[in-house]
Amino acid sequence: MKNLEQEQAEQKIKSLREKIREHEYNYFVLDDPRISDAEFDQLMQQLIKLESEFPSLVTSDSPTQRVGGEVLDEFEKVEHSTTMLSLDNAFNPADLREFDQRIQKNLTGQTYQYVVEHKIDGLSAVMRYDQGSFQLGATRGNGEIGEDISKNMKTIRSLPLKISDQASFELRGEIYLSKSEFARINKARLANDEATFANPRNAAAGSIRQLDSKIAANRNLSILVYDLISHSEKEFKTHLEVFAYLKNQGFKVNWHQSAENIEQVIKICQQWHEKREELDFEIDGLVIKLNNLADRQKLGATARSPRWAIAYKFPAQQKTTKIKDIEISVGRTGALTPTAVLEPVELAGSTVSRATLHNEDEIERKDIRIGDTALVQKAGDVIPEVVKIIKAERTGKEHQFIMPEHCPVCGSKVIRPEDEAVTRCTNISCPAQRKEGILHFVSRNAMNIDGIGPALVEQLLSNNLIEDYADLYFLKVSHLADLERMGQKSSQNVITAIKDSKDREFFRVLYALGIRHVGIGAARILADNFTSIAELESTSVEKLVEIAEIGPVIAESIVGFFQERHNQDLICRLKQAGIKLARKAEQSDKFLAGYKFVFTGSLENFTRSEVKDLVEKAGGRAVSSVSSQTDFLVSGKNPGSKYKQATELGVEILTEAEFEKLLAKEKTVTKK
Ligand code: AMP
Ligand code: ZN
Repeated sequence: MKNLEQEQAEQKIKSLREKIREHEYNYFVLDDPRISDAEFDQLMQQLIKLESEFPSLVTSDSPTQRVGGEVLDEFEKVEHSTTMLSLDNAFNPADLREFDQRIQKNLTGQTYQYVVEHKIDGLSAVMRYDQGSFQLGATRGNGEIGEDISKNMKTIRSLPLKISDQASFELRGEIYLSKSEFARINKARLANDEATFANPRNAAAGSIRQLDSKIAANRNLSILVYDLISHSEKEFKTHLEVFAYLKNQGFKVNWHQSAENIEQVIKICQQWHEKREELDFEIDGLVIKLNNLADRQKLGATARSPRWAIAYKFPAQQKTTKIKDIEISVGRTGALTPTAVLEPVELAGSTVSRATLHNEDEIERKDIRIGDTALVQKAGDVIPEVVKIIKAERTGKEHQFIMPEHCPVCGSKVIRPEDEAVTRCTNISCPAQRKEGILHFVSRNAMNIDGIGPALVEQLLSNNLIEDYADLYFLKVSHLADLERMGQKSSQNVITAIKDSKDREFFRVLYALGIRHVGIGAARILADNFTSIAELESTSVEKLVEIAEIGPVIAESIVGFFQERHNQDLICRLKQAGIKLARKAEQSDKFLAGYKFVFTGSLENFTRSEVKDLVEKAGGRAVSSVSSQTDFLVSGKNPGSKYKQATELGVEILTEAEFEKLLAKEKTVTKK
């Protein structure tokens, strides 16, 4: 072998790779191995040996790249080409029929078909292929920005690293762990005295976010693909065509069945209530999608989810178990929340050992006592809860729960306002509140600061390095490096992540502040109506409630927040730290005034009338044909002849993503 010429080696490597790919496909996609594991290993060993003799012939899509090895310091951020949205939920046939009514209304007089798929309870991922080779895999992250998990995704054996179609495209799917792999991993962890994973989904999440891809490789993750986002060569008319294509290219595609109408959909959903137990992976429902892709375009999406799809969630599962104790935790707003500590039970794919009891009234209303036997339920991601107490099981040894008079964390007196159900710790500098407030501030939808978890926040607080989230921005590497379990390198990473968060979008900053009742949705609305914190600070309850989506409770809470001296000080220090406390780019609202736009091709995220509206709202004009007067041509998928005209006339051409940036004022415009 040693003397093989480069050329011969190339031939041999090529043929080995082809063989290995075929066997991988048979084994991991078709579940139908044609050779023994030993024979397979032998082929792999030959390839590894040859590649090590001829390192210049190693390619990123070689099967040898699946074993992992390189240890990363952190995951790079990836901007998604198209926002990864959520799905609307349906919980019963009535919800599904309502969804169908909306579709019918939007597609007047047209016939349409649905495709029903498994809703796999895993993690969504997006994959890019470049000329037939796997290029990039990323997590969903906050929908706009995810993390580059390419190295770990390569270890997923059912995911082809090379396909025959030399095209460039982007697709989505769900990464998951089979039930049997989950059981195997937990068994091994138990034997090693390691904490077990609560459910396959957590185990999959923990595995795909391993910085050491060797660990990920040992977890035997799987993937099922279910959507094509773009394709450089082909035009597809229906979702079924997409599935056929992907399957043909060697992808493991999600189970799917077409349905002619909503009643058929309902029947399929009901069939899966029980059948799902037979699968070797967890599904938490089914996803119903419109089959016709042009119809999807027509329907578009809301800010949260596409209008052409819905997730049907299976009904909650219930079981009885014992309430061993009732514990109190203190949240971000100082609320004391009772939690039932349960005898662990298996429910909806995970081990449940705690259930929320919400508040004192709830405990009273359901007459919950420590030692009781309770019926608990869990649905999908929802926090488990106590449905009712099985009174017949009472022995007389149960005892009443009494709300403490002092905060279990700081010892301050707690109060419960007469008209509220919630008991609160009154100490604004209660460490529990601070900790939760900081964790909220760094969370993904807020400032999205990586590397700061509960353990580090606790350390920072107890070492008096910070008192609140504004203090994060004044931390130095040397402060962190002295802490336990925090080397120089990871300290540097945390400081960089903190610094990187300074220019988050305005609505995220608003959300991060932790104003009671201001969730991410309300924060977006506020950011649309106020250009800066300064403007919001000086507003009134009356002004706020004029905004359609803002009710009096939110309004009072906002005004109250800015009146508090401690909060004014927080904002002051955020400003000092250089956080953007205003909308980006100080352009006027008519920032597209005088600009003419032409659109060609199909856009992913907007209908034509939507883009027209958006452009006009910003003072611009959308016209139908390209001329020398045109400022921008926005080119979607499969552009028409306008593209050529624009090129010839030297009109600036924007992709849909660039157009969105322009709308978000993240890209500036200058008149030619
Ligand atoms: P949700 O997070 O409940 O809003 O639901 C959206 C998520 O469902 C997506 O981000 C995917 O991770 C997941 N999902 C699972 N199976 C499918 C499927 N067949 N089609 C689309 N999304 C799916
Ligand atoms: Zn307290």
